[in-house]
Amino acid sequence: MEAVNPATEERIASYEEHDADDVEAALEAAHRSFEEWREYPLRERERLLENVAAVLREDQRRYAELMTAEMGKPLSQATAEIEKCAWACEHYAEHAHSYLSDEHHPSPPGTEARTVYEPLGPVLAVMPWNYPFWQVIRFAAPYLTAGNVGLLKHASNVPGCALALEELFERAGYPDGVFRTLLIGSNRVDDVLSDDRVRAATLTGSGPAGRAVAETAGRQLKKTVLELGGSDPFVVLDDADLEAAVETGVRARTQNGGQSCIAAKRFLVHEAVYDEYVDRLVDAFEGLTVGDPMDETTDVGPQADAKLMTELHEQVRRSVDAGATVLTGGEPLDGTGAYYPPTVLANVPNGCPVDVEETFGPVATVYEVEDERDAIETANDTRFGLGASIWTEDRERGRRVAGELDAGCVYVNELVKSDPRVPFGGITDSGYGRELSRAGMLEFVNRKTVWVE
Ligand code: NAP
Repeated sequence: MEAVNPATEERIASYEEHDADDVEAALEAAHRSFEEWREYPLRERERLLENVAAVLREDQRRYAELMTAEMGKPLSQATAEIEKCAWACEHYAEHAHSYLSDEHHPSPPGTEARTVYEPLGPVLAVMPWNYPFWQVIRFAAPYLTAGNVGLLKHASNVPGCALALEELFERAGYPDGVFRTLLIGSNRVDDVLSDDRVRAATLTGSGPAGRAVAETAGRQLKKTVLELGGSDPFVVLDDADLEAAVETGVRARTQNGGQSCIAAKRFLVHEAVYDEYVDRLVDAFEGLTVGDPMDETTDVGPQADAKLMTELHEQVRRSVDAGATVLTGGEPLDGTGAYYPPTVLANVPNGCPVDVEETFGPVATVYEVEDERDAIETANDTRFGLGASIWTEDRERGRRVAGELDAGCVYVNELVKSDPRVPFGGITDSGYGRELSRAGMLEFVNRKTVWVE
């Protein structure tokens, strides 16, 4: 496996894929360690999670630089990602007790009925490259603390991060086998998932990858959680605070080089403020600093690799051929590195690539909508259902519109974000199941009913 720096196009390192014996050893270690790990007192599992937070902070710079080198996210954002991982660990260390406490049910006098939460066993996690640490901590913190053990198959372009994550849990003091990285390609996921020792799977990634994992898991009757792509609407109503909606809209579309499932992708703007909003959005896009991701002042780094950038540009090119207008950007930048400029497209024809597909890069589409009803219908006119953001000075109106949007999470006057305190996940082609909060922690547990007469 090759790690290539997308900013310099230089090879950072190459890693030997794990062979069949390595995978077998990891599966056996996971299987064996589960029996021991599930018996650890919860307080001890929480304490180890606090250690993970401490190691993350201790080595924040090294981990951040590793992510930036392997997939090009600006260093300041990589540093913030590590801090967010530490926060999520602390959140679960603090709340796991209450999240996992027994639920008591009404039952006849003299009897007792409870649900107790028990771990399932080894969980396979197939993860993407866009938030190399966050996506992994998001599953590992709750699932390991619930008593499961983890097998990570990370994206092939971030092998250094994948190994650093294994080392992180080792340094935090986890018993051998509780968290293992498998350096394997996607063609070997089926075999691992089909193994009896693996009890469940979680995948964050594209629709095709999600479908492949769900099919295999379905045949084996193994539970899955799928966090897939999105084409989130960012709805600006006529009474929105435009300055805040521009500032946050730019961040929501361009942070992490625009490579985020919950990025604002379609900007639906009320006709009363359309011209002003779009002018300001374009100005703000043009004011962003695009360049070396290691430079702390960079807003937008390179795309994670040249092939992904070519695919993004192809979506833009085909949409322009179909009639879309480029308001800014729209052509890859010359020179070394997979740099794509912040781009805004208007007059987007129905059904063209940027209208119906996910754009995984800094490309915003703007749509003029007549009124609130038109905004809701346009927002819902997608096969995805991950997040949505609504901008209005009337919070009651915000709540009402939120109720009509088909999405897993809706934020009013805020960008869509994942936060350990609240459930995160999508509907329709954006997947199913929830991560984070109590809901996320209870995805991979046996909710066992115990009735005592
Ligand atoms: P991807 O190509 O689907 O890859 C994700 C992971 O799945 C990688 O580890 C990949 O391995 C593996 N994979 C790919 N095809 C597979 C298959 N047929 N069977 C089993 N595993 C397979 O996605 P990506 O390009 O890394 O990430 C971008 C996508 O992830 C976007 O669609 C984005 O919206 C989505 N995403 C969703 C969320 C969310 O929370 N909903 C968060 C972040 C990203 P290899 O690298 O070895 O191919």
